[in-house]
Amino acid sequence: MKYSISMFLSLLFAFGTITAQEPVDLEVIERIIQEGTERSQVMEHFDYLTNVIGPRLSATPAYKRAADWSMETLEEWGLEEVHLESWEYGRGWTLEGLTLEMIGPRYFPIIGFPEAWTPSTVGVLQGAPIYIGDWTAKEVADRAADLRGKIVLVAKPQSEFIKEDRLQPADSEKSVRIGAPRFLPTEMPADRATLPQFLYDAGVGAILRPSQGEHGTMFVLGRDNPETAVPTVITASEHYNMLVRLLESGEPVELKVSVKVKFHEEDTNGYNVLGEIKGTDPEIGEEIVMAGAHLDSWHSATGATDNADAVAATMEAMRILKELDIAPRRTIKMALWGSEEQGLHGSRQYVERHYGPDDINNRENFSVYFNHDPGTGAIYGWYMQENPAAKEIFDAWLEPLTDIGARKNVIDNIGSTDHLSFSRAGLPGFNTLQDYRDYDVRTHHTNMDFYERVSEEDLRENAIVLAVFLYHAAMRDEKIPRVPIS
Ligand SMILES: [Zn+2]
Repeated sequence: MKYSISMFLSLLFAFGTITAQEPVDLEVIERIIQEGTERSQVMEHFDYLTNVIGPRLSATPAYKRAADWSMETLEEWGLEEVHLESWEYGRGWTLEGLTLEMIGPRYFPIIGFPEAWTPSTVGVLQGAPIYIGDWTAKEVADRAADLRGKIVLVAKPQSEFIKEDRLQPADSEKSVRIGAPRFLPTEMPADRATLPQFLYDAGVGAILRPSQGEHGTMFVLGRDNPETAVPTVITASEHYNMLVRLLESGEPVELKVSVKVKFHEEDTNGYNVLGEIKGTDPEIGEEIVMAGAHLDSWHSATGATDNADAVAATMEAMRILKELDIAPRRTIKMALWGSEEQGLHGSRQYVERHYGPDDINNRENFSVYFNHDPGTGAIYGWYMQENPAAKEIFDAWLEPLTDIGARKNVIDNIGSTDHLSFSRAGLPGFNTLQDYRDYDVRTHHTNMDFYERVSEEDLRENAIVLAVFLYHAAMRDEKIPRVPIS
């Protein structure tokens, strides 16, 4: 048989290309897409989390219910080593009742939502509110006695609003290290650091405060601060501003406010949910590839984009892999983290417990962690946390997914979520690249983060992308390359 030079060259080139390229299993990808499209269950998980369980604030019975439900679901699918891991978190809090009404000079129900961990009011407060937004710090101090038991409007009328989402990272050619909109502190009369203590000492009955949301959207957070806590209700800015303007017009405004809450002291644990599909390779079966998403949410909506969408997709990815019976070489693990919203508690606890500096064997056996949290909509790719070697591998795995909507991996890093617990410990952790459409303006930590903001198509795709990445990470010969801790 004769070879022409050109044939020889093209063979050489093909061989060279193949050996340099990351292997991609198109047949398995096809099966994953089929299972994740034709027999998807992702909307069932999403529906259960958002509509049936609802808000999942840390250390509440609702959070525990979500953890138990997901654990039972993973067990039903036949995942192995399904269990909860707990740590001491602190007390939980549930809102049990709210009245927020203007009863004079006309009747008007006001849109508002109490901050998390706010205490109950002492019964129902009714009377003229006191607006201190234009008081000086000295006036506040001199007139403390006037504030006792009163409903106090602490901030100036809201004039700055979050009107635009940040640049969409998948569209932008610029660096994607562009943060969320900057929240300006509400303008209050005294030093923000000392005012809460002052209002607490003055015995204020309840605080109303606007937020930078508009059109009925409010950003509602909160934390447990028993030493300075006064019942505090975030109030729709348009309504808050109307109250202040009515008072400034000299109208006889009268409000009725009551907040009823329950603190949960009976179980003060935080919980992570873990489950896995065991690796089958005698050499590398103990090595771990992992995906995760935080299961907790804030309390004023059902945490649909933050973060039930990601929980549903992560669970679905595991269901798909289990269903396809793929016999992974490495162990594929998943985690649902608790208390991300109060500071990445769940993932930090997990990494400290299993991947501390002395856990040399575990650290050696860890390949990669895929996190699914910030933003919403389809997964377009991954933030590569300044890891170019990993990016080359991820680029190869993403390529066959462009047909279903994948776009690019970016070398930049992203902060503020659970992959940081891994990357801070020197373990490769990456986060999904997604849109921020309607996220910054409408859903992120607001009272409007509901089921409607997430599309079925996106959730199906996301489960497929996660399953494809977990599969390839589990099958490749080497672990994912690491970069030194920055
Ligand atoms: Zn969040």
